[in-house]
Amino acid sequence: MYYFNLRFLDKYRCLYLVLFLIIFNSPIAASPLESERVDDSQSASELNEEVGEIALSLDDAPMPGTVIFNGMEKTKKIIQALREANCPAIGIFAIGKYAQVPINMKRLHMYAEAGHIIANHSYSHPKLNDITAQEFIVDIKRAHEILSPLPNFRPLFRFPYLAEGKNKAQRQEVIQALQDMGYREGYTTVNNHDYYINKLLLDAVKAGETVDYDKLKNLYITILWDCIKINQELAYKVLGRKAKHILLLHENDLVALFIGDLIAHIRKQGWKIISIEEAYGDPLADLPVTNTYSFVGRITAIAVEKGLGKELAVFPETVKYNYIPRALKQQQIFTNPLTHK
Ligand SMILES: [Zn+2]
Repeated sequence: MYYFNLRFLDKYRCLYLVLFLIIFNSPIAASPLESERVDDSQSASELNEEVGEIALSLDDAPMPGTVIFNGMEKTKKIIQALREANCPAIGIFAIGKYAQVPINMKRLHMYAEAGHIIANHSYSHPKLNDITAQEFIVDIKRAHEILSPLPNFRPLFRFPYLAEGKNKAQRQEVIQALQDMGYREGYTTVNNHDYYINKLLLDAVKAGETVDYDKLKNLYITILWDCIKINQELAYKVLGRKAKHILLLHENDLVALFIGDLIAHIRKQGWKIISIEEAYGDPLADLPVTNTYSFVGRITAIAVEKGLGKELAVFPETVKYNYIPRALKQQQIFTNPLTHK
């Protein structure tokens, strides 16, 4: 099994390298919006086959403020952008510890009052792989006490770091406890590294660098759209059909800055933004998963469950180590005003 795991991960690296070369050497990186233009020569039926559906979710809410936005500003901007885009209910996966601060609890109320769904993302954001299942379950229950009185709360749990345990037995102990609490798993089908782009943005701002926000927006949308497409391709291979997807994002500055543009881009590709509850209504939510591969995305976990993982694992797992910093540098998205006059 250990050998299989290594092979599986090696495969990601190889496939990502190929993907990286394709993206990095193509005009897509420079002009993501142009690259996705719909070909007018296609018939309506052909286009309809390509249409996908996706819901949005924000993890780690209510995240602390940063050098760009304080917490309340960020939440207000996100809610306003979602309202202006007429976006259906998104999932707010909240951390109990953050929510204990009164102003942060107010932010969660604001999301709920705007029609969005509040869910449980643990109390202290522990990694299941690092603690016992019993310690982890206590942490989930502590968050439940804090979050469940909120309006629009739903018993959905998303594992911090999408880490579902050291092994199947540990995972199963937690899944059983969740079921006993009346919870369902708040899985994602589109993992990505938005948190890493946000970290690099904050590092650049703190260092006094100038940020080209238009280019940053295009890179952010390129990466996310690429992750969405890959998982739709995977859905066709694994499920034999398109899936109702769930995009993982974090309640960070990038979302406050670009969520409206991201929604517009997804819709421009012919896709529909659906509510988080509609997305969890996809029958894939009921497919049995016993392995711990959901950290890549739920469809990959289903692929592994079906014994298809080795052939179909095409998610760009190593994107944070290669593509993101290189693209930021190559596209000169952050520049030091002292050295670039
Ligand atoms: Zn998290």
